[in-house]
Amino acid sequence: MTSVLHVCAFEDNYIWLIRDPGAPERVAIVDPGDAEPVLLALEAQRLKPVAILCTHHHGDHVGGVEEILQHYNIPVYGPARERIPALTHPLKEGDRIQLADSDLSFSLLDVPGHTAGHITYYGMGAVFCGDTLFSAGCGRLFEGTAEQMHASLSKLAALPETTAMYCGHEYTEANLRFALTVEPDNHDAQAHQTQVRAQRAQNLATLPSTIGLERRINPFLRSAIPSVRHATEKHLQQTLKSEVAVFAALRRWKDSFRG
Ligand code: ZN
Ligand code: FE
Repeated sequence: MTSVLHVCAFEDNYIWLIRDPGAPERVAIVDPGDAEPVLLALEAQRLKPVAILCTHHHGDHVGGVEEILQHYNIPVYGPARERIPALTHPLKEGDRIQLADSDLSFSLLDVPGHTAGHITYYGMGAVFCGDTLFSAGCGRLFEGTAEQMHASLSKLAALPETTAMYCGHEYTEANLRFALTVEPDNHDAQAHQTQVRAQRAQNLATLPSTIGLERRINPFLRSAIPSVRHATEKHLQQTLKSEVAVFAALRRWKDSFRG
C-alpha cells in the first residue's frame, strides 16, 4: 500500500495527498476543497503535485481546484456526470487511469447516492471514497435514492478487506455513537470507539479505516444483519421487507439522530 498524507480543511474535511511509490515527493491531490492549506503543505514538505482527483462536485471538495491550478499546471480528474472546475479528464465506471510521470494508477467506480455522479478511486491498496462511505457511517442522500446508495456501498464493501479507506470527513466519533445505538452489543464497534476517542482527544485522524473493519462496525454496510434490521424495525415500529428498506430507514434514522 502506498503512503498517503492528509491536509485538514474547514471544520472536518480531509484533503488527501497520495505519494507516488516510485518518487515519494510526487503526490496526487484528492478533493481539494480549499487551496491554501494544500499549497502550504506542498511547500512545507517540498512536494510536487502531479494531478488533482475529485470525487464529486460539492464545494468542500472542489473549491480549491482553480487556485491550485494557478500555481501548478496539472490535470484535473473527476466524474464525467458532474460539473467540476477545470476538469480535463472526465471519468466513469470501469475507467483506469495512470497519472502522468508517476506510478500512481487507479480504477474508477461509480457510486451514485450522495450526488448523482459521485465516483471513487480504487488502487494502490486504497480507496478514496469522498462522501459516499465514512467510517461507521455514509453520506447523506442529496441527489440519489436509497437504492442507488445501497448498491454503491455494496460495491465498496465488496473490495478486499485490507483495502485502506480514505473518506472526505472526520465524522467517525459521532458516527460510532449512532452505530452503537443501532448495535449496542457490537464488540468491534465498542473497541473501535475506545480507540477513536483516544485518537480524537489527541486531535489525530481516525482514518484511514479498512473495508474489513467497516464491514464489522458500519451499520450502513450491515442492513442484512438480523440485529441491525430488528433495531431499525423497533425504532420505526414497522416491519421492513428488504435490505434496501432497512438501509433507507437507517439513513432516515441517522438524519434525525441527535447523539
Ligand atoms: Zn459532499
Ligand atoms: Fe463533503
